[in-house]
Amino acid sequence: MYNIMTPGPTKVHPLVLKARGRVCTNPDLDMNFFEEYRSLCERISKLLHTKNKTFILSGEAILGLESAVASLCEKEDRILVISNGVFGAGFIDFTNIYGGNAVLYEDDVHSGINISKLASYLKEDHNFKFATLVHCDTPSGVLNDIDSICQLLDSYGILSVVDAVSSVFTCDIDVDQSNIDILIGGSQKALSVPPGLTLMTISDRAFQSMEKRKEKIASFYCNLLNIKNYYEEKQFPYTMPIHDIYGLDASICRIEQEKDRYLHHEQYAKAVRSSFVAYGLSLYLNDSYSHGVSTFNVPEHIKCDDILNKMKNDHQIMIAGSFSYLKDKVIRIGHMGENSNMEDITLTLDALDQTLTELGFKGKGKLKDYFLNQLNP
Ligand SMILES: *Cc1c(COP(=O)(O)O)cnc(C)c1O
Repeated sequence: MYNIMTPGPTKVHPLVLKARGRVCTNPDLDMNFFEEYRSLCERISKLLHTKNKTFILSGEAILGLESAVASLCEKEDRILVISNGVFGAGFIDFTNIYGGNAVLYEDDVHSGINISKLASYLKEDHNFKFATLVHCDTPSGVLNDIDSICQLLDSYGILSVVDAVSSVFTCDIDVDQSNIDILIGGSQKALSVPPGLTLMTISDRAFQSMEKRKEKIASFYCNLLNIKNYYEEKQFPYTMPIHDIYGLDASICRIEQEKDRYLHHEQYAKAVRSSFVAYGLSLYLNDSYSHGVSTFNVPEHIKCDDILNKMKNDHQIMIAGSFSYLKDKVIRIGHMGENSNMEDITLTLDALDQTLTELGFKGKGKLKDYFLNQLNP
């Protein structure tokens, strides 16, 4: 059995596993299930500080990204795709599939989106139906200031679609204050529920935009209007994955009971980063670090795969490389949700220290000691 210290999927808590073992009902016919589903959605909206409705869809978080675009985008609509990373630019693919006219806005991949640069750009060109952006672009770990960006978009009447899959519940997100029209989360990141669910909060004006379309939405599974009135109509568009939802409920309970969750995530992330630096590793990012994943450059003369394989084979710990233009260049440790605990992070850093040393890297001091000293000065 591996210790999964990756930026998703993350470790699953025994209470979540237990909840997934609950006796099953028929979610299409049992009226209690409609109540349970709705109340869970309401609790999620509350945690995200929004009056918007939350929906839980049966499908990994990519379903959320695609559904948002499929439901909003009509042929020839101009869509602004804001990107400083892999998932950011990835929205181009969805807008192309649904016939939109994507305009890519790119910024430095080593930093958060620069707000004043984006503001000057929008001043010149703001004729967009909606914009897509990523809160934490997980392959690098860059955390964008969605509050400033979405308020800026809102000032031009541009709807916002935010991929917060790997950031949601690692830091406080205030959907209403930021005017986020569609916020997308997934089960397998900081929620620490097995992969399989997408969460979305959807604003009234996003739904109105879908209802005003001239063309029909070219999908059934990705058509968000199909789930909009599930409660009033007592009908889901498809049978809900009831055990996944029971697991999610248990995870939300844990989050509701946790004090200082976001402060804890922030402190642990900071301690991991500063131990990398003290030890002599270099961080990939210059600023805008996420609270759920830390990324360092693969040291010169060492192969990324050698580090990952040694960690896996000698220590039974999985950490992650990255993909796209970051493949073989960086290593990531996921410390979000249930992964964010002293014991696992210490074990991981100690194993990483041994691994790097055996591969010829000369670190300064002990990686895990820096981490522990930072947390217990
Ligand atoms: C994990 C993640 C997703 C979902 O993608 P998978 O590759 O299928 O896990 C989407 N967006 C972001 C930012 C993510 O971190």
